[in-house]
Amino acid sequence: MRIVDIIQRKRDGHELTNKQIVTLLDSYLEGTVPDYQVSAFLMAVYFRGMTDAELKTFTDCMMRSGDLVEFHGVNKFLVDKHSTGGVGDKTTIALAPLLAAFDIGTAKLSGKGLGHTGGTIDKLEAIPGFTFPETRDELVKNVNETGIGIMGYSENIVPLDKRLYSLRDVTATVSSIPLIASSIMSKKLAVYADGIMLDVKVGAGAFMKNEEDARLLAKTMLGIGKSFDRKMVVHLTNMDQPLGLAVGNSLEVIEAIETLKGNGPEDFTQLILHLTGTALFLNGRAETIEAGTEMADRMISTEEPLEKMRMFIRSCGGDAGIVDDYSRIPVATNTLDVLSKESGYVSQIEAEEIGKAAMILGAGRPTKESVIDHSVGLVLNKKVGDKVKAGEKLATLYYTGDEHLQQASEKTVKAFSFSIEPVPASPVLLDTIQEL
Ligand code: URA
Repeated sequence: MRIVDIIQRKRDGHELTNKQIVTLLDSYLEGTVPDYQVSAFLMAVYFRGMTDAELKTFTDCMMRSGDLVEFHGVNKFLVDKHSTGGVGDKTTIALAPLLAAFDIGTAKLSGKGLGHTGGTIDKLEAIPGFTFPETRDELVKNVNETGIGIMGYSENIVPLDKRLYSLRDVTATVSSIPLIASSIMSKKLAVYADGIMLDVKVGAGAFMKNEEDARLLAKTMLGIGKSFDRKMVVHLTNMDQPLGLAVGNSLEVIEAIETLKGNGPEDFTQLILHLTGTALFLNGRAETIEAGTEMADRMISTEEPLEKMRMFIRSCGGDAGIVDDYSRIPVATNTLDVLSKESGYVSQIEAEEIGKAAMILGAGRPTKESVIDHSVGLVLNKKVGDKVKAGEKLATLYYTGDEHLQQASEKTVKAFSFSIEPVPASPVLLDTIQEL
C-alpha cells in the first residue's frame, strides 16, 4: 500500500492495520517517507484519533525505534514516577529515599530542565561533589546498594519521538491526546520499571488545561500500559500554583530534605505520601493506596529515609553532610522580598510565570546551552487560599547578580491573582486513576 493510501484511510476514519502503521513509521525512520506526508498523517490522527489497537502498534513502533533499557541484576521492585512537567517539582528527590526506606527501588533516566521547568538532574547537581553514574552497571550497583539510581538521558531512547515531536510542534498537532499518550508511554515502556506512576498536571500552565482532557489522557495512557501488561496508576494533580514553596535548584533540594524530616509544605508532603502509598500498592505490600499512604505517613520523619538520602548522595560522590547542614549547599545570600500591591485572598499563582521568574534569576535555562546558577531561585510565602494584605510578603527572591532582579520581581507579582472573597486552599491531588 502506498503511503498516500495510508494517510487517506486515516483521514477517512478507517482503522489502520498493524502493517500499515509499521510501514509508515519504519519508512519515516529510514528516511524514505518525507516530513510532509507524516505531517498530513499527524493531522489526520489529530481529527480522527486512534483506536486501542492502532495506539498499541503505534506506541510499540515508537518504543522500538531506539534502545530498550533493562536493569539486569537489580534486586528490587522498581518504580518509575513521571510527571508531565511542573514548576517546583522536586518530587523525585524526596520520593526516592522514602521508597528506598521500603526497599522499593528507583532506577531512572532523568532530564535537564529547559525553559521554565527545572530538571531533576540540575537540582541534584546543586549538591557539592555530586556526579551521576555514567554507565548502566554503575546505576544498577547504586540501586542495589542504596535503592536509588538516577542518571542523565545519554542513551538513544525513542528517537522517533524526537522527530515526530518536532513535526507536531510546527503542524499544530502537539495537543492530540493519542499522540501525547503514545509519546509519553513509549518513553516509559522503553526504560524498564515494574510499576509506573504518572502524574498528569492540570491547570493554566500545564499541558492539560482542564480536568476532562487530563482524565482522557490518563485513561489513554493507562490503556496503553495495560496493553503492555504494566502495573500502572495515573494521578491528576493541580497546577494552579507551583508545587511546594521553593523554586530553584539548591532551594528545592533543601525543601525535599525538610519534607523527609516532616517539615515540608502541606501540598508537597501530601503528594509524596500518596505516591509512596501508590508504589506500595503496585508492589503488593499495601492492599489499597490509602493503606500504603498510611504506611508512608508512619515512615516519613523517621531516620530511615534521611539515611537513604545520605547513602544516595554519597554513592554519587556528593557531600551527604548537606542533609544535616544546609550551609554546605550553595544558596545565594542576596535576598529581595516581593511585596503584594493588593489585598485579598490568593486565587491562583501562575506556575509558568513563577518558573520564568526563577529562570530570569539564573535557576533555569532559556536555551539548551545556558549555564545555570544552582544557588538562586525563590521561595513563596503565600499559596492559593491565603489571605494577603497590601505590603505583605508574597515571596523571597534569592539572587547573585541584580541585572534582572526587577524583571523577576515583576513577574512574581504578576503571577499572583487575588479574589476579594475567601478562596478554598487548593488540593494538590485531583484524582487517582487505576481503572479504564
Ligand atoms: N510530554 C511528552 O513526552 N510528549 C508529549 O507529547 C507531551 C508531553
